[in-house]
Amino acid sequence: MKVITAKSAGFCFGVRRAIELAEKTVRGKKRVYTYGPLIHNPQEVKRLAKAGIRSIEAPGRLRGETLIVRTHGIPREMREKLEQKSLHIVDATCPFVKRAQDIIKKLSVDDVDIVIVGEKTHPEVVGLVSYCRHNGAVVDNCRDIKKVKLGSKPVRVVSQTTQTPENFDAVVAEIKKTCGDVATFNTICKATKDRQRSARQLARQVDVMIVIGGKNSGNTRRLAQICSADTPTYHIETEKELDPRWFTAAKTVGLTAGASTPDWIIDRVAKAIGGNKDGRFKRIKYSG
Ligand code: SF4
Repeated sequence: MKVITAKSAGFCFGVRRAIELAEKTVRGKKRVYTYGPLIHNPQEVKRLAKAGIRSIEAPGRLRGETLIVRTHGIPREMREKLEQKSLHIVDATCPFVKRAQDIIKKLSVDDVDIVIVGEKTHPEVVGLVSYCRHNGAVVDNCRDIKKVKLGSKPVRVVSQTTQTPENFDAVVAEIKKTCGDVATFNTICKATKDRQRSARQLARQVDVMIVIGGKNSGNTRRLAQICSADTPTYHIETEKELDPRWFTAAKTVGLTAGASTPDWIIDRVAKAIGGNKDGRFKRIKYSG
C-alpha cells in the first residue's frame, strides 16, 4: 500500500508566523495570553500552553499582561477596548486576514451592502463583520442569499480567507441574478487555494484520503469535503482516531492536513498507519 502526501499540506505562512511570534514573545516570561486559541488545532494549542502561551476568552480582566491577537483577528470594537487597557498587545493576525479587514473598512466608506461569504460564527468572520460600517451580511452558501435583504444599494462581496473559490463564485452568481451593481473581492488566500487544489488532485488518485486537522478548523473541514467528492475520506485530529478497517481494500492512501496542523501530528499519523510521510506502508498499526 502506497502513502502519498499532498504537495501542499499542513502549516501555512500565517499560522507559522503566529506561532513563531508567540514563541518569541513568551521567551524570558512566565506566561503570555492569546485571545481565543491562537490557531484552530487543539493539540498544538495544548503544546503552546505548556510553553506558557495560554488561551483565554475574557481578556478584559487582564492587567499589565501580554496579549497576543490570534491569526483569525478580533472584532474592531474589541481591539479598541483592549488598546485602552494597560496591556502589551502583540498582533499575530495573519496579513491575509488583515487585508480582508482593510478591504471591508475601505468599502464601508461608501453606502453599500457588504456580503461576506463565510461561516457566521467563525472568529475571522466575526472580526470581518465588525469592519462593516453600514450593512454587512454573512452567507455560508448560495441558498443563504434568500435570507439576506439586498436592496437598491450597490453590493460588494468579500470572502472569508479559507472559503472555496467554487462556493464564492456560486454566491456571487446568485447575487447577480437580482442585483445590478455587484463588485467582488476574492480574499481567499493562496495557502487555502494551494491546499484545496493539491487535496483534490490527490483524492482523484488514491483509494482513501486521510485529512488531518482540528475538528474546529474550517479550512480542514473544507479539505475533507473536497476530498470526499472523489474518494472515501476520513477527517481525524490525531493518530488515535485511525481505524484499520478504512484501509482493508486500499492500495493507495492520500494524506493531507489543514493549514493549522503541525508536522509532528502529520508524522505521527503517517507512522501509526505504518509508513513514513512519503514512504510505503509496511503494516497497519492501530493505536486507537
Ligand atoms: S490559511 Fe491563509 S489566511 Fe489563514 S492563516 Fe493561513 S495564510 Fe493566513
